[in-house]
Amino acid sequence: MKIIQKPSPYFNERTAKIDMLVIHATATETLADTFGYLIEGQGPAPVSAHYVIDRDGTVYQLVDESKRAWHAGVSFWGDMTDLNSHSIGIEFQCPAVSADELGTFSEAQIEAGLVLCRDIMTRYHIPLENVVAHSDIAPGRKKDPGKSFPWNRFVAAGLALANRRPKCVNQSPRPDIIPKKSGEGTTPSHPDPDI
Ligand SMILES: [Zn+2]
Repeated sequence: MKIIQKPSPYFNERTAKIDMLVIHATATETLADTFGYLIEGQGPAPVSAHYVIDRDGTVYQLVDESKRAWHAGVSFWGDMTDLNSHSIGIEFQCPAVSADELGTFSEAQIEAGLVLCRDIMTRYHIPLENVVAHSDIAPGRKKDPGKSFPWNRFVAAGLALANRRPKCVNQSPRPDIIPKKSGEGTTPSHPDPDI
């Protein structure tokens, strides 16, 4: 598949091997808006993802797979944390239809997503249970990729499980708040913004 390189400066080094795929939707009006956040740092904090799939099915690579992109934020999956270190993050270009709800996805981008996900999962032997929505790993805090995301297509293609649900053994009532080890109460953990 043809992939257009569109480098983002927002990445650092992984501290874990790749064993997870995180699916996102951008909730932005245009691809230019998305690149504004993911490449030009126009959001409140720098964020990034490895790939963006536009509505016409064009795939852009922003961060090398070997590097840690900044898309998952504070998140958990079972006993796994620092999911940015574990995962490859794919953003589907998709406008929001309201503050709470994302729009639908185009056939071209679904098809490109299926090809890209299969390729990544095959190369890294990513287990099916580790193909997750951003909302799975940050429940209560993130809603993307939203109810319209065609998980049934990914399940039918053998790329995701039908019964995905949040698996957050460390989940607190507010997953964006992490208790301090010193016992000084809680503090917003903000070195890890997301999109
Ligand atoms: Zn997201």
